[in-house]
Formats: sequence, structure tokens, C-alpha cells
Amino acid sequence: MATDSPRRTLAALGLSPRKSLGQNFLADPNVARKIVGLAQKYPPPYLEIGPGLGALTSCLAEAGAPVVAVEVDRGLATYLRNRFSGGSVEIVEADFLNVPAKEWRRRFPEGGTVLGNLPYSLSSPIVLRLIELRDRFPRTILMLQREVVDRLCAGPGGKEYGILSVYLGVLAEARKEFVVRRACFYPAPDVDSAVMSVRFAGEYSEALVAALRTVVRAAFAHRRKTLRNAPVPFLPGGAGQWCELLLAAGIDPAGRAEEVLPAAYLALARAFAGM
Ligand code: SAM
Repeated sequence: MATDSPRRTLAALGLSPRKSLGQNFLADPNVARKIVGLAQKYPPPYLEIGPGLGALTSCLAEAGAPVVAVEVDRGLATYLRNRFSGGSVEIVEADFLNVPAKEWRRRFPEGGTVLGNLPYSLSSPIVLRLIELRDRFPRTILMLQREVVDRLCAGPGGKEYGILSVYLGVLAEARKEFVVRRACFYPAPDVDSAVMSVRFAGEYSEALVAALRTVVRAAFAHRRKTLRNAPVPFLPGGAGQWCELLLAAGIDPAGRAEEVLPAAYLALARAFAGM
């Protein structure tokens, strides 16, 4: 049975899957190879987030690819260090969200490619962190809950389109690659997963990205209301100034956040930041 292997490995290690860390281990080697095949379209070295029992890591290691894998679970990190010692894989025991950017600059002086089967509860913070790190890691292959991938890759006009879809729509090309059924994991989660690729493109200053975050958050704060009613405490001129900025960006203040294209949000951020 496809789910036997992680179960047996964990039992041999005296470990159990930790729900709090989103530990649903990939138990289907074909899916692992497919994900790693996508990552290998992009240049090494690789940063793997949450290697777990090494389902993806081992495919990269077999190919001799240089990998830094960051795992927060001490028991798993110890297991992985033993398993991959002497090869091309380095294990870092840490919370990915707490590793400072300068550490990644040191370890990846020329940049690299990210891959990971992410803990679902941390999908949004990890994607936001990868947006911050996009200069260092311009290419990313991620497995997430299927609905989250649908949201991240969504275009305007529907309820799936939200804050993160706008960020990725402006800063990247995000694409849903394929669906992975829940039965491919041990333990099986309650939902299916999907793999997505993200290629960051374009050069945007941190100031412009910060402005984008401010205006997009305001726009989506009350998504059922029209844009003119968005909360804008960051504008000294209040709603009047907001409507001027919307019009300057070609956005109808009587429209709703989910109808606005990423490019129009970028224009709004430029108008707000005076860029
Ligand atoms: N990559 C493995 C696989 O595909 O079987 C494991 C995937 S499992 C969904 C998520 C992994 O991320 C777990 O090993 C978990 O311990 C690890 N993890 C959870 N939170 C983390 C964090 N903040 N930083 C690094 N790893 C984390």
C-alpha cells in the first residue's frame, strides 16, 4: 500500500506524525519524482522547506543536486542528517519563517530554487516570506492544499481572487501544475493537494511592494462593499484622497476589490507611493 513506507519509517524512529507541524508525508514516489522534475527545470542549488522524511530530498540527492533543507522537527532533522550524510544535502534544523534573509544570502550567494510540500497551516506566511525573498529565490515549486493553490493562481472576477493572488499576479507568473490526491499521503489529510510553480519576474522596489500591500489590504478589507468604502487610515485625506487615487489608477470606486486586475493594483500602489 502506498502509505506504508512513511508509517514504517516513523515507527522505526519511534515518532508519530505531528498535526501541529502539518506532517502529512508524501507516500507516492511517482508524485515525488514529478515534483522534483518540475524543480529541476530551474537551476540548482535548491532550498527545500519542510523535508519531513525526505520524499523529495532523496530524489534530488540521487541526482547529486546541492540541497539545503530546512526542517523544524528535531527528530526528523536528526534522521535526515544521518540519512543524507556525506552527500549533496545539508540539513538545517530551524523554523523557515525565523531564518533571516542574510542567512539565505550567505548560503545561496548566487541564488537558488525553492521547493517544498508545505505545512498547510503556514501556507500564507511562507508564501509571503518567499515574496520577500524573491530576489534570492526567483523560482519556486510548492505543494499546498488544492483550494489554496486555486486561490493563489486565481485571476479577477471570482471569490477565489484575493490578496495573495494579487501579489503573485503583480510580481510573478503563478501556475497550477497538477493535483495530488489525499490518498498519496500518510496520514491522509482531509483535502486534496496541488502543486504550483511560481516564477517571479520584474524589478519592484521594496517601497513599491510595501505600497502594494497597503492598498491591496485596504481594498480587500471588506470585499462585499464597494472600493470607495475601504478603510484607509493610512491616507491623511481619507476617503476623498482614496477615490482620487483609485481614479488615477483607472479603477472605478463603485467597483469591488475582486474585479480589479493586478496591473491596476500596481498602478494604484504607484499612485499612492508617488512613484
Ligand atoms: N516534504 C515532506 C514530504 O513531502 O513528505 C514533508 C511534508 S509535511 C507536509 C511538512 C513538513 O514541514 C514537516 O516535515 C514539518 O515538520 C515541516 N515544518 C512544519 N513547519 C515548519 C517550519 N516552520 N519550518 C520548517 N519546516 C517546517
